[in-house]
Amino acid sequence: MGENELTHLKDSLLRQRREILDRLQGLESDWQTLSERDIEREEEAQKADLASLFDQLEERDRQKLEDIELALTKMANVTYGICEKCHKPLALERLEILPATRFCRNCVAEMEKKQKKPAILP
Ligand SMILES: [Zn+2]
Repeated sequence: MGENELTHLKDSLLRQRREILDRLQGLESDWQTLSERDIEREEEAQKADLASLFDQLEERDRQKLEDIELALTKMANVTYGICEKCHKPLALERLEILPATRFCRNCVAEMEKKQKKPAILP
């Protein structure tokens, strides 16, 4: 992988990270506004629903954030762009779309087959 590609991928990782952080911050302030409001008892259930929705969203974003951090660390260690499972170089087209991916397409397909449920990994 060339210097240019790496810089470009790093940029998009940093951009994604900022977007997620912004979103998480937005969620938090939404949640605060909601909690501060005087909520009637009937709305308590609705509030709980919303809370679990926020949790799910956060969970997904945090997972993604971890992958991004990991990818950035790998870039620093020059182990970036290599599948963690089969240790083959990842296709540049795949990295362009999913710069934080940890596995190649083949390995993801393998894992999905074994799990028989939708993989959370990109
Ligand atoms: Zn692989």
